[in-house]
Amino acid sequence: KLHNTILELKGNIRVFCRVRPLLPDDGGGRQEASVIAYPTSSESLGRGIDVVQSGNKHPFTFDKVFDHGASQEEVFFEISQLVQSALDGYKVCIFAYGQTGSGKTYTMMGRPETTEQKGLIPRSLEQIFKTSQSLSAQGWRYKMQVSMLEIYNESIRDLLTTNRTIAIEAVRADSSTCGRQYAITHDVNGNTHVSDLTIIDVCSIEQISSLLQQAAQSRSVGKTHMNEQSSRSHFVFTLRISGVNESTEQQVQGVLNLIDLAGSERLSKSGATGERLKETQAINKSLSALSDVIFALAKKEDHVPFRNSKLTYLLQPCLGGDSKTLMFVNISPDPSSTGESLCSLRFAARVN
Ligand code: ADP
Ligand code: MG
Repeated sequence: KLHNTILELKGNIRVFCRVRPLLPDDGGGRQEASVIAYPTSSESLGRGIDVVQSGNKHPFTFDKVFDHGASQEEVFFEISQLVQSALDGYKVCIFAYGQTGSGKTYTMMGRPETTEQKGLIPRSLEQIFKTSQSLSAQGWRYKMQVSMLEIYNESIRDLLTTNRTIAIEAVRADSSTCGRQYAITHDVNGNTHVSDLTIIDVCSIEQISSLLQQAAQSRSVGKTHMNEQSSRSHFVFTLRISGVNESTEQQVQGVLNLIDLAGSERLSKSGATGERLKETQAINKSLSALSDVIFALAKKEDHVPFRNSKLTYLLQPCLGGDSKTLMFVNISPDPSSTGESLCSLRFAARVN
């Protein structure tokens, strides 16, 4: 393996917390944050965060805490080694976890058309392409493949299919009706296969950018059909990298999974009925399955319950073994989100 990463020193699972800035609509206009990240100076981003609820401070510590002042560039700087390790043949998963409106999509995607506000996904891809090109001087040739899918109510939806019928049918979140099963299997080499899933060979950053746009459009089709489907589904971006060195004949197979999880907020039990209740149950089930899996891996337990959700089963080969996992827990500083922030931080503290 070519590069060392920070993760190798301290095990394979990391948790970073990111607090977004207060927005004009937060706190009904009363601009007062309910979380305190330490220290607030941007040159030494800290590890501690307190949530203040009815005058009580609830302290948490993570591998890193980014306060509202942390730029996209600063956040990416802290994960660039991890992203790089996918080129060295590691399997990498980076998740964004948190309630709707806490900054998951901003962290993952940001505003890709801007230089400063683009998020982890565009930055990671730029870095990978740049590095792979510079490694060609040492004889490395890389093949890259991209797939993008959404998991909604425990069904997989292909975001890159150009088949209109499938795209529309799948919006109804019952992929079986269109003859597509999107069945997940794992082969002996530890690779995941999803039957019928569109996988595209990519050779430029421009090409991936247009695929990301296509996926975003495909997601928003869902949004008009189902209430805010994008915040009720998990978005999984996968880049498979196979590299071969023409002079040494070394080979590497890496995978980078970037996952924007469904909103973790709990709906009040009385308020959720019908479709909404089904969604909430599916989200709760898959998020707690994810937590159980990461917890079991962190504790090095013999049995890891990968099969309890589509998400964990899909990512199984990229979560165990010598793969690397990073969880962002995104936090809103809005006082009306204090309860959800505490839930998110407790979730993250469990897997940390
Ligand atoms: P989520 O995906 O968790 O629902 P979003 O990423 O859509 O949340 O963020 C909610 C709002 O907050 C968006 O308007 C987004 O642009 C803004 N936002 C989130 N994080 C930041 C940040 N770090 N800096 C500036 N704006 C942010
Ligand atoms: Mg989002």
